[in-house]
Amino acid sequence: MDQPRRFAFNLKRLILVLALVSTLITLLSSYLAIFQVEKKLLIESSLRASQSYATRISLTADLFFNAAQKQLIYSASLLGEEFHNLNAVTDEADRLQVQSKRYSSVLVVDKSGVVRAASRNSADMVGIKLVSDANTQALSTQNPVISSPFRTPQNNHIIAMSVPIHNARGKYLGYLVAEITLQQGGIIDSLVNARNYRKDAYIYVIDNDGDVLYRAADGWTESAPQGNVNKALLEGRDQGYLHMKNLQGEDSLTGFSTMEVAGWTVLVLHPARADVVLLYDVMLQVLLYTLPFVILVFIGIWLLTRSISRPLRQLASKADTMDSEDVSVEIEQVNAWYYEASKLKTVMLQGIHLLHQRIEKLSTQAHTDPMTGLLNRRGLYEQADKLLGEASQIGVITLDIDHFKRVNDAYGHDVGDVVITQLSHLILNNSRKDDLLCRMGGEEFLLLLPGTSMAQAVQLAERLRCQVEMQDFEGAGKVTISLGVTHFNPEKVNIDSALKSADKALYQAKNDGRNRVVSL
Ligand code: GH3
Ligand code: MG
Ligand code: MG
Repeated sequence: MDQPRRFAFNLKRLILVLALVSTLITLLSSYLAIFQVEKKLLIESSLRASQSYATRISLTADLFFNAAQKQLIYSASLLGEEFHNLNAVTDEADRLQVQSKRYSSVLVVDKSGVVRAASRNSADMVGIKLVSDANTQALSTQNPVISSPFRTPQNNHIIAMSVPIHNARGKYLGYLVAEITLQQGGIIDSLVNARNYRKDAYIYVIDNDGDVLYRAADGWTESAPQGNVNKALLEGRDQGYLHMKNLQGEDSLTGFSTMEVAGWTVLVLHPARADVVLLYDVMLQVLLYTLPFVILVFIGIWLLTRSISRPLRQLASKADTMDSEDVSVEIEQVNAWYYEASKLKTVMLQGIHLLHQRIEKLSTQAHTDPMTGLLNRRGLYEQADKLLGEASQIGVITLDIDHFKRVNDAYGHDVGDVVITQLSHLILNNSRKDDLLCRMGGEEFLLLLPGTSMAQAVQLAERLRCQVEMQDFEGAGKVTISLGVTHFNPEKVNIDSALKSADKALYQAKNDGRNRVVSL
């Protein structure tokens, strides 16, 4: 009946599973460690890059605001001297606007907030009283002001950069204001943009209150979007980096830097998720680079496991056939290359040697007669099989001591035993190596003589009879034997009928008066 196949644990599988599991755990923890370290490095370098981009923008903006302010201050000092010369004031405003395309319009405002002169592109503003916060701020502080973005009545989205105008005696006359558009293509748009940075980055410019003045991303800009950044997150620093949520609520890596002149802060953000995606690419690379080594290690483990388990497996498989003839030779051939296997091999060989000795002894005991050392009946039948296959003619002699009862009666059973033993020696001395000599029971013997003709068998029988007749048996003196002889071809006649003929001949020898040979 077939045993159902099921997964059995053997040494090879155990070592293999153990080695593979521990290697996999080691590999996974290495990958995890690499992942964590790479993540930290990647995020940190991302943050630094964002910070330095923010710094670049704020420095450039500072340069612009500085230069623009200086230019306006210089013009304001000229205007202070000629404030009442309307033509000169208009010329100066126009010169500023035309010369520096950065300004959408340039206005000269008196201290009551009425536009006194304007660059020619905004001539219609002259005489209008301004009401913007920027105007209020300029008039109330009488200092240079960069306003928050606002919309003009003409719906232009601008910031106003103003400087006070004083006359030669230092009296406040009003202010000079340059309006800078926040629309696309304007100066701020070209300063604050993400075009040179990563595709997924956003740039926010926030004022002191954290209100978003300006937002830019790849390919688009938006001035004054709804939104506020909690400035407390910046912890009062001028520049640095942090994790924060962008206006869409995405966790973002953010670098920031504050402009000195305008006091605005530039934030450069990009989604943290993007870096993690990048990290997966890096990890895939790491995996691909290490894969050949991992495969090599696994092959190495497999080969080693095989070579460790092989001797034990071979020895174990021999354990089932310890009684077979060739098992010692097979075990000798096992390459037990390490200490435990070699010890096991030695012990198994010793054990097998002892086992075989024991089996041989038991087998000998089962097949021989202990008193004479000749084969017993069972031994004869076993050995005869071989003989029958090899020989083409076999001589058979069966012999029995005459009146043995009398020997026993007269000298005792022990003397009878000595007689039987001495007779067996006599038979043995007259036999050849291949002859089968058997004590069939009591004082009756059988000789199977391979390759022996009838005449040769009768000759041997006669010789035995004479020698017995001549011999003095210890304690019993003279003894005679009767012998029946026959001859058969094992291919034609079976052994049992041959033995029967020999018995018949013996019986006849007894009847004919004993101490004689009869052949049939
Ligand atoms: P015969 O063969 O001449 O007809 O007469 P016998 O007296 O020899 O008769 P038989 O062969 O029938 O008897 C065998 C006797 O041998 C019987 C038994 O007491 C004795 N005997 C059988 N085995 C042994 C043995 O192992 N030792 C001794 N001492 N005697 C044995
Ligand atoms: Mg007898
Ligand atoms: Mg007998």
